Amino acid sequence: MIDFKKYEIWFATGSQHLYGPDTLRQVDDDSEKIVRGLNTSGNIPIKIVFKPVLTTPDAVTSLCRAANSSPECIGLITWMHTFSPAKMWIAGLKILNKPFVHLHTQFNRDLPWDTIDMDFMNLNQSAHGDREFGFLASRMGKRRKVVVGHWKDATVQKSIAVWSRAAAAWADMQSARFARFGDNMREVAVTEGDKVEAQLRFGYSVNGYGVGDLVKLVNAVSEKDVDGLIVEYEKKYTISPEAMKGAPKHGNLRDGARIELGLRAFLEQGGFKGFTTTFEDLHGLKQLPGISVQRLMAEGYGFGAEGDWKTAALVRAMKVMSEGLNGGTSFMEDYTYHLDPAGMNVLGAHMLEVCESISENKPRLEIHPLTIGGREDPPRLVFNVAAGPAINASIVDMGNRFRLIVNEIEVVPPAKPLPKLPVARAVWKPKPNFEVAAASWIHAGGAHHTGFSKALTPEYMEDFAEIAGMEYLLIDGSTRLLDFKKELRWNELYYQTGRGI
Ligand code: MN
Repeated sequence: MIDFKKYEIWFATGSQHLYGPDTLRQVDDDSEKIVRGLNTSGNIPIKIVFKPVLTTPDAVTSLCRAANSSPECIGLITWMHTFSPAKMWIAGLKILNKPFVHLHTQFNRDLPWDTIDMDFMNLNQSAHGDREFGFLASRMGKRRKVVVGHWKDATVQKSIAVWSRAAAAWADMQSARFARFGDNMREVAVTEGDKVEAQLRFGYSVNGYGVGDLVKLVNAVSEKDVDGLIVEYEKKYTISPEAMKGAPKHGNLRDGARIELGLRAFLEQGGFKGFTTTFEDLHGLKQLPGISVQRLMAEGYGFGAEGDWKTAALVRAMKVMSEGLNGGTSFMEDYTYHLDPAGMNVLGAHMLEVCESISENKPRLEIHPLTIGGREDPPRLVFNVAAGPAINASIVDMGNRFRLIVNEIEVVPPAKPLPKLPVARAVWKPKPNFEVAAASWIHAGGAHHTGFSKALTPEYMEDFAEIAGMEYLLIDGSTRLLDFKKELRWNELYYQTGRGI
């Protein structure tokens, strides 16, 4: 359900008429070569489209206007091959409503020491042309990414790739629809928020739907379709004895499959990209959706439990950014701790709803009682998450702005097998260490719900926050609590000035 083929990024090169037609032809040729090089590098997942060199304010403005109205164009790469007087960019940048990355590169990598002359100097001026453009973009308060280095360098290409995925997530978020079954878990603060402001800022809408409407679709599912899904479960998962055909709880598995089919039908019919549930509103549903949520997330749907629509939208954005990458992305919750001073860890899990994309190996399909919600024992996929680097991200509503908090973590193998724990789980060490990470997170007001990803790095989240114009706080290996607290206080001041969101 996530397709990068429909997207384009436009490559816009700035110059001016001063240099004459020969130089401008050369600029066009060089830009085309860069575009071809980036497209064939295999490093960038979205097609880059060459646009002829821009030499006048009108040309810049009409390109920006075209970008704004193109459904395919998700952003611009800007580059000044020569000097490009930046006042010609004012009108265009003023109306541009797509994100842009400023590629600060040069066509040739090396100085031609033996042959360099003034013609060469006049053609290869990005060293000062890009600074002129940079001034104007900063003067206008434009948030963007600046990627520095030679365009053939894989590091540069990968940095553009990260931005392009963030731009795709942003494009995907515009007009995205999220369905809430039931409202918020009663009295919970952090999962609440201003949905009108979210729609203004992020472009997605969140609306509530009666659980009864979902139940209607669940009840309409045919026995034949349930049979088909059970066969798929049997192929994909290790079915534990209590869930097997003939076992007393096999009926619960069929009910779980029926919920999955009804939920998928509801989401497809409404064109939704994510959803929330709450165990406090399950009227007519036999179970809290478990395996269905785990599997729908694996298909690309965003999800938030207990009515947490902000996390549902965040998980969807992280799903888009990580499309096709190794690793996986899931809804997650900091659940419980291991506080041995010799090595403090977090055990992350949820009641049921952890995406199977982060499973270390073939999940076990098990059925156990769930005291919360007071319904039938729900089937769920149980698995561990493989060791390795990952991130946790949280969006909270601070009243006058949305704040994105990201923590770099290292998933570690569970010290012991956890034989009695009937849910999917990940054990991790947060960076820089448990004490600083948890204190920083709590000072920042980060939620207990997160988007967890083994595919993404903080760079993706930073690029996404820049595009969204959102506050971004990173807790990583170099975080010092004292500095982090200062950053929070300074940000508070910044976001009170009205410039931020
Ligand atoms: Mn929860």
